[in-house]
Amino acid sequence: MATNEILRGLMINPERLKDLATEAKEFALQHGVLFRTNETPNSSEDFFPPNGAWPWPSTLDDAVLVTEFRQGIVATYAPFTLFPSPVPKAVFHQALAVQTHFNTLVDKISQDPGFLEEALASTIQADDFTAKLLGIYRQVQHEGRTQSIMMGVNRSDYMLDQREDRTSSLKQIEINTIAAGGFGVADHLPVVHRHILRLAGLLEESQCVPDNNSTAGIVRALAKAWELYGQQKAAIMFLVEDVQFFIYSHRHVDSELWKRGIPVIRRKFEDVLKAGFLDRNKKLFLDGLEVAVVFYRYGYMPNHYKEKTWEARLLMERSLAVKCPDIGTHLAGTKKVQQELARPGVLERFFPDQPQVVEQIRATFAGQYTLDMGPEGDQTVAMGLAKPDEFVLKPQREGGGNNFFGEDIVRMLEEVKGDKRRAAYILMDRIRPKVEHNVLLRRGLPLQLSSVCYEIGVLGAYVRHGGEMVLNEVAGQILRTKSIEHGDGGICSGVSVFDSPLIY
Ligand code: ADP
Ligand code: MG
Repeated sequence: MATNEILRGLMINPERLKDLATEAKEFALQHGVLFRTNETPNSSEDFFPPNGAWPWPSTLDDAVLVTEFRQGIVATYAPFTLFPSPVPKAVFHQALAVQTHFNTLVDKISQDPGFLEEALASTIQADDFTAKLLGIYRQVQHEGRTQSIMMGVNRSDYMLDQREDRTSSLKQIEINTIAAGGFGVADHLPVVHRHILRLAGLLEESQCVPDNNSTAGIVRALAKAWELYGQQKAAIMFLVEDVQFFIYSHRHVDSELWKRGIPVIRRKFEDVLKAGFLDRNKKLFLDGLEVAVVFYRYGYMPNHYKEKTWEARLLMERSLAVKCPDIGTHLAGTKKVQQELARPGVLERFFPDQPQVVEQIRATFAGQYTLDMGPEGDQTVAMGLAKPDEFVLKPQREGGGNNFFGEDIVRMLEEVKGDKRRAAYILMDRIRPKVEHNVLLRRGLPLQLSSVCYEIGVLGAYVRHGGEMVLNEVAGQILRTKSIEHGDGGICSGVSVFDSPLIY
């Protein structure tokens, strides 16, 4: 790859590297590739002068004075790679082509209580969080479903597994049905990457970085769900995090919705707990506003909930508001469900007359193995203990940083192998992606050449009305790249950075 030669050149010319990185960061900031900072994750103000007004610094001395009083900076560039990563055309298109089938699959699972109950039966004995989610699912099922409009935004993540013949095959890492973030910000990165390639003299390569428009796809789905709900004054509510690093990602979507005349509000679980209520028709109201759609940007980890906030989740699930995702769809994205889907014959249950669809989806599955109690689970334990480097041990968690690799697999399996606690996990074949080289740009990180690997995420968005899919789309891609020294990934955990594909 030509970018590798350029990178080698940059390593012996640190001034040139610094210039290019500075240009990339400024371009990123200018184009909305933004992130909140650790110091002020929830604020657009960084200092509070005693008399309420701080003079605008007009000299360097003023600027230094102001800096001394600063508590931090308000925003920075979202972490990203200096160069885009090379992705073979065939696998890129394969990942895009299978996405609408994954949308359909997730949606079908969410409506299949028999399958979910059976798939998660052992997991809920060992994992309290999944048990609580399933408890809400049961309660909502028991009361009878209240809303026939359903929408989903999911992100299916893949790595390219290197075969011995040096070709690569697309393997799914996981599908996120709730923790599907990064949209918006990732739309503006291709412009930055094309610019950097051109600056580096790689004009031809700059034409191989495709546009990305995840914002438009997600906006279309949210707007469709809102429109079907049919109440002009009702709002779309982003259920947001306590710590909002990703606010600018949401803002790309939220401003497009406002442009269409759709009101958007941002609320936390505790706001819903304090002010939310259902009227006798189960319409959800909050601060005098009816909520048409709840877009969960939070609520996928146990530590997102306090004892009381579970009541807020239940309130929203029972309501007439369209949930993105509803509780069944959330459960469809668990690692355990993913492992069950990889069993022979299971996909056929959801696509009985569509062998090509089954084949297309199955081609992306890596080997996954149950750890439920019984002979099959015993075999998995033995496999994991014998060759820990060939597997990843995964609990039912999202957001990065929860998986076990190598010797940690042995330690963990030794601890839980004798009892039902082991059913909280699944074992998965470890994917060995090709090693690339790049410079990771993150605030505070020194400029250096790193050995990296990427993960391709494909976003899907869909809306179902009763039995009919009225919208089912691919909504762009999100590449995330990390240094190979890390087994696990994640943007928020400070390991991965955003990236764009350079298709070849
Ligand atoms: P999470 O829900 O926490 O994001 P993932 O299944 O995506 O969980 O795993 C987190 C990270 O661990 C991934 O982004 C990837 O870097 C790494 N990982 C997960 N599964 C595998 C695998 N089978 N092979 C190699 N790396 C993996
Ligand atoms: Mg993941």
